[in-house]
Amino acid sequence: MSAPHPNRVSFEFFPPKTPEMETQLWDSIARLAPLEPSFVSVTYGAGGSTRERTHATVARIVRETKIKPAAHLTCVSASRDEVDDVVRGYWDAGVRHIVALRGDPAGGLGTAYEAFPGGYASSTDLVKGIRKIGDFDVSVSAYPEGHPESASLAQDIDALKAKVDAGATRAITQFFFENDVYFRYLDKVRAAGVTIPILPGLVPVQNFKQTANFARKTGASVPQWLADRFDGLDNDPQTRRLIAAAVAAEQALDLMKRGVTDFHFYTMNRADLVYATCHLLGLRGEKQ
Ligand code: FAD
Repeated sequence: MSAPHPNRVSFEFFPPKTPEMETQLWDSIARLAPLEPSFVSVTYGAGGSTRERTHATVARIVRETKIKPAAHLTCVSASRDEVDDVVRGYWDAGVRHIVALRGDPAGGLGTAYEAFPGGYASSTDLVKGIRKIGDFDVSVSAYPEGHPESASLAQDIDALKAKVDAGATRAITQFFFENDVYFRYLDKVRAAGVTIPILPGLVPVQNFKQTANFARKTGASVPQWLADRFDGLDNDPQTRRLIAAAVAAEQALDLMKRGVTDFHFYTMNRADLVYATCHLLGLRGEKQ
């Protein structure tokens, strides 16, 4: 049996809105780049609202770094031709990895998803469309606790399988805090015959209230023990940061102990906590 490879990481960023946010993003990329991530991905705003900014950020990563970027893309509020143009634009800019998503309903969370007239009807359709345009590496989403719209986890796993059959090469999970949730999901996914890598998505809790709010919308559960750890610290950012570091370390080290070698971090464009967690996973940047 060959030895397992050293741990590998990937990072998600969002496209910046203001010059200050742009500086924060690029400082974070500069800090995390020496860890030689397998890829970094850049999100796409709801309904394509960040189309230009996502493209500009990804194109700058291609131009100015050695990191392989992945561009997120959704089917919301756009025709096939428009989406195909975005995909070709990425190909022309040298991008070879797309994170293909359906996106949230244009009417907002809780409303029914309706395909845009003449648009891709689902993430599965989008994956097929992207693969027709070029030999892209295509990542898709996975939901260890189920997507809020799905009737059952089994339906979600069928949806994942359809995306893989359409050509997806990797899945990235929604964030979770209980590692057992991930491993139980992985067992079910493998039993369903899905063999692509399922990267665990980890979110360092920079701000507990914000994370809990976001989790509620995405179907990720927030365990009581996590709420208890941040209890009473609303006005104490310094202690919150230390607790957040301990929580992230505990989760990542447990995943590693249980055999995980590839980790995806939702960075929120901040490097410190993620960098420290990667250090614990054995990653070493060049000395700066
Ligand atoms: P899908 O995989 O398409 O599934 C959506 C729902 O439909 C599920 O309930 C599924 O069970 C069901 N379904 C799908 N296909 C079938 C089928 N064939 N038969 C039966 N049921 C089916 N959103 C953004 O706007 N921009 C981003 O950049 C972004 N990045 C993300 C990155 C990751 C890693 C994750 C996990 C999510 C991201 N999202 C992003 C959120 C995502 O767009 C929403 O969760 C959206 O509501 C669903 O899109 P999807 O591609 O994840 O879902």
